[in-house]
Amino acid sequence: MAVVVDRLRTERTTFSVEFFPPRNDDEERVLWRAVRELEPLDPAFVSVTYGAGGSSRDRTIRTTGRIAQETTLTPMAHLTAVDHSVAELRNVIGWYAASGVRNVLAVRGDPPGDPNGEWVRHPEGLEHADELVRLIRELGDFCVGVAAFPHGHPRSADLDVDADHLVRKVRAGAGFAVAQLFLEPEYFLRLRDRMAARGCDVPLLPGVMPITTPRVLSKFGELAGVPVPGAIEDRLLPLVDDPAGFRQAGVDVVTELCARLIDEGVPALHFYTLNRSKATRQVVANLGL
Ligand SMILES: Cc1cc2nc3c(=O)[nH]c(=O)nc-3n(C[C@H](O)[C@H](O)[C@H](O)COP(=O)(O)OP(=O)(O)OC[C@H]3O[C@@H](n4cnc5c(N)ncnc54)[C@H](O)[C@@H]3O)c2cc1C
Repeated sequence: MAVVVDRLRTERTTFSVEFFPPRNDDEERVLWRAVRELEPLDPAFVSVTYGAGGSSRDRTIRTTGRIAQETTLTPMAHLTAVDHSVAELRNVIGWYAASGVRNVLAVRGDPPGDPNGEWVRHPEGLEHADELVRLIRELGDFCVGVAAFPHGHPRSADLDVDADHLVRKVRAGAGFAVAQLFLEPEYFLRLRDRMAARGCDVPLLPGVMPITTPRVLSKFGELAGVPVPGAIEDRLLPLVDDPAGFRQAGVDVVTELCARLIDEGVPALHFYTLNRSKATRQVVANLGL
């Protein structure tokens, strides 16, 4: 099974995709359609997020394992420290290994219920993602990625402290980082500069989400933790009553963002797909990837 850092070692920019674990049979069918439609495009890797609660977590393990066993794709499973003791985390990591998953995105996670609430670690668990990186690396031959925040993590005092913590996660053994969503490339590029200034040169992948509907646009604000830039609102909001026009303009906005990032030499674009493939395939085709 290939590892992500090797898959990123290419001359040209490539792309990767992110899914969430399906909650029922219908969602499972939708997800697998997207997987099969993206497979021929040979993404560098496909990742599956890790939710709160046992059944969602089981579905992450199952879905990632199925991708490992039934497709030609390189899977990456996310893992969080939320509500897990170290013994439970070891167990999940063991399941990943047993199902052929060698890539793990180690994220701390947010308090269940209220993402902005106070973080309380499990009494026998971990406090921060750097500890999770170390644990995963200790347990086997895993390639580990971490989360990065172009606008700074909401709990960080400032962007420099935030970059120090990101670099700490890399020094703990992460081989690459995937960035939270953003729409203004300068924020991503400045984060990359802050990493470079700290002597940290692991691949940093921009997180991008094709904006296909007004609902996805509002989800952007929620996920990125920053408002949608005014210039982009000015392009999209006049089209809210024209679904086809909105979709086209949203795909154009994201294509332009990606083109700039490719010019800046990013190794790969990481697409948040919301388990659909069409818009991602359109952007990838527009860019000639
Ligand atoms: C690409 C990506 C994928 C994600 N996937 C998932 C997912 O699958 N499931 C899910 O639930 N959530 C996911 N998240 C969300 C993530 O769990 C939250 O954003 C969480 O609040 C932060 O996780 P982290 O790994 O960055 O935590 P940490 O790196 O632990 O950072 C949390 C805060 O503590 C600070 N910090 C970090 N290390 C230290 C330290 N050693 N000492 C003091 N302060 C420190 C940081 O600067 C930050 O402010 C994802 C986020 C991204 C960007």
